[in-house]
This record gives sequence, structure tokens and C-alpha cells, in this order.
Amino acid sequence: MFNVTRRETSPESLNEKSWRGKDVAEALRIDFLDKCYLCESKETLSFNIEHFDAHRGDDEKKYEWTNLFFACARCNNFKGTRANILDCTDPANDALRLIKHTPPTTPYSQTIIIEPMSDDPVVIETADLIREIFNLDDTGNRMVAGAYLRKKVFRRYYELLRHINTYEDDYSLPRDKDLALEHIKNLMSKKHEYSAFLRWAVLDSPELAGLVEDFID
Ligand SMILES: [Zn+2]
Repeated sequence: MFNVTRRETSPESLNEKSWRGKDVAEALRIDFLDKCYLCESKETLSFNIEHFDAHRGDDEKKYEWTNLFFACARCNNFKGTRANILDCTDPANDALRLIKHTPPTTPYSQTIIIEPMSDDPVVIETADLIREIFNLDDTGNRMVAGAYLRKKVFRRYYELLRHINTYEDDYSLPRDKDLALEHIKNLMSKKHEYSAFLRWAVLDSPELAGLVEDFID
């Protein structure tokens, strides 16, 4: 998960009691960095404007700007009407550090480990949801799409791993190590796809994390 900085002024359509306006979708797309807030897939072709707290006909929740989230259709389906999910738009929540994402070790990994880093029930429930999104294969559709998703995460992680390996290798030239460190710094930004996996791979090394901490936004 990553923290989202939501614009303060709500899109005009919401004042006219419409959450399906183009301005709402566009504002969410930009503020959520083109990513689903749950799985962090980027530029997904099928996304939903999600009511974070299910509106159940309540107009206030239906058109409340802070209740609208950007999610891919798959994650929206997993979340359903679940409440008690960590609000990544609240700056008081450290969305990255509260839920540990351990990257898959191969493109074929069957399981991705997602762990709550606090005993807060909201954090535990959010980790449960994200774990299901990456692993649950109770239907054929979820099984196939889950395998695609884990493979996509591995691909992004592998890019980072190549640079970490160059940086760590005593046989690398100093200039290659410097360049590798620049790449690692760049990959620490939350704008990247699956940023929680990339950032946690580095947070596990206090030494490397110390070198790039200014880039973990
Ligand atoms: Zn998603």
C-alpha cells in the first residue's frame, strides 16, 4: 500500500450529486498515481470508482469526495462491502510500513506473504484483504488472474533486484555501483507499480534503506 495525497477541493460533479462524472474519475486517477490503491497495478483498463465506506443508498457517503477511491475491478470485487480497511489517504496512517509486502521469489510463486505490522484490527483486516487479492484461488478466474498478478509483481521486483545485485557485488565497477544506487533510489518512489514490494525489499536492509530513505516518499 502507499499513501495517497488527495486534493482538497472536490471535483465539481460531486456538488451536482454525480460521482460518475469525468472530472471525478480524472481527479482520482491523478491523485492515486494511476494505480489501484490495493494491488498497485498501474493503468488498469478496468477500474472502479470505489465507495470506501459502502454507501448503501446514503447520499452523504455516495458523493463525499474523501469516500471515493481508485481501485481495479478485481480488487473492488475482493473488497466488496468490507469495512475496517486502512485509509491510505489519511496521512496519520503509514500505509507502507503498516503492511509488510514480501516479493515473490520466482515468476511462478504460488504464494505472496503479506503481514500486518501492528495488532490494530484495521491493519490486520487490510493485510487479510491484500493477502487474498494476491493469493486466493477459490475460482478459476481468481486462480488465473492471481498467477498473472504475481508474475507482474515479480517482473518489477526483478528490475530492482538486478540493481541491488550490482550494488552488492564486490566485482562490480565503482561507476556501475553508483549507477545501480541511482536506479534503486529512483525505484523507491511510490509512483511505481507494486511500490510496497519494492520498498519492503529495501526496508529489510537497514544499511541500504539508510542510503535511500530520502527517496521513500
Ligand atoms: Zn487492484
